[in-house]
Amino acid sequence: MSSIAIICSGGDVSGMNPAIKHFVEYSLKKGLTPYFVYDGYEGLIDNKIVEASYKDVSGIIIRGGTLIGSARSKRFMQPEFRAIAKQNLDALDIHMLVVLGGDGSFRGLHAFYKEHGVQFCGIPSTIDNDIHGTDYCLGVDTALNIIKSSIDSIRDTASSFRRAFVIETMGRDCGYLALISAITSGAELCLVPEIAYDLKEYEEDFKEQIKNGRRYFIAIVSEGIEQDSQEIANWFEEKIGIESRVSILGHIQRGGNPTIYDRLMAYKFVTHAINGLLEGKEESVICYSKKGFEFKSIDEVTSSKYHLDLELVQFL
Ligand code: ADP
Repeated sequence: MSSIAIICSGGDVSGMNPAIKHFVEYSLKKGLTPYFVYDGYEGLIDNKIVEASYKDVSGIIIRGGTLIGSARSKRFMQPEFRAIAKQNLDALDIHMLVVLGGDGSFRGLHAFYKEHGVQFCGIPSTIDNDIHGTDYCLGVDTALNIIKSSIDSIRDTASSFRRAFVIETMGRDCGYLALISAITSGAELCLVPEIAYDLKEYEEDFKEQIKNGRRYFIAIVSEGIEQDSQEIANWFEEKIGIESRVSILGHIQRGGNPTIYDRLMAYKFVTHAINGLLEGKEESVICYSKKGFEFKSIDEVTSSKYHLDLELVQFL
């Protein structure tokens, strides 16, 4: 019986646990022996590789984070440590890997594949939704729902106190979370790193809105914009004349009970990944777009930067 292992690498997302559960169940169904690699590529090097069974994944579908841990690994950047990882996999006769991670993690396995020929399939997993070649990354829907609940709660207090709330979302240099949240929460202002802005352009309109009875403003700003969130709050106080507060959502965006969409996508991504490996796909990433699921090369996924969908920008 062939063996297959699953690894989580880089930032964790909600949706990894449903993926791990389905990985075990689907591997067994396909006659494969499933293994967990604990703590990302660190665990590959340190031989934290353990055979998995149904009972390990019982009850985890409702939990955020990842049962098997995730990590960043400086050592995996070095060929000598990748050689140790290969010895560890060989000792257990594991020749196929499923990795949940971002483009950095895929680059790492690409190097590993070139040196040692270990077959792998990547599943895009990051709340930033910034991986080129896929419209959806695991974890994004849960993060968006958590942001939605936070904004809804903040709106209650903002309206009671006549305040402007500047709500900062994660995303590094990708404004996807901020953009979708602003559209779907009816925010008055949305600032993302991809779109140049000039706050002056909003001043007259916002002051007019207050005159006409507006009690509060919701501004959604992505962490990667040039100004920090407190500067935007200061602008509301100084130029618009409304008391202002900053709320940085931070790591709450990464956790939480996985949404139905993330559970379903986890199952679909894993099914395609395992099928692809069994069909002999050597090194690929399973991507999702309007066309459906497609295997893409590591070069395609890592060579370009993700661009915000311009169709969405027009709704701002
Ligand atoms: P993400 O997968 O979320 O983009 P990182 O960029 O932090 O996360 O990458 C995760 C891990 O992948 C790194 O800690 C490192 O171990 C490995 N990695 C990234 N790039 C390379 C590379 N060029 N060569 C080998 N390993 C890499």
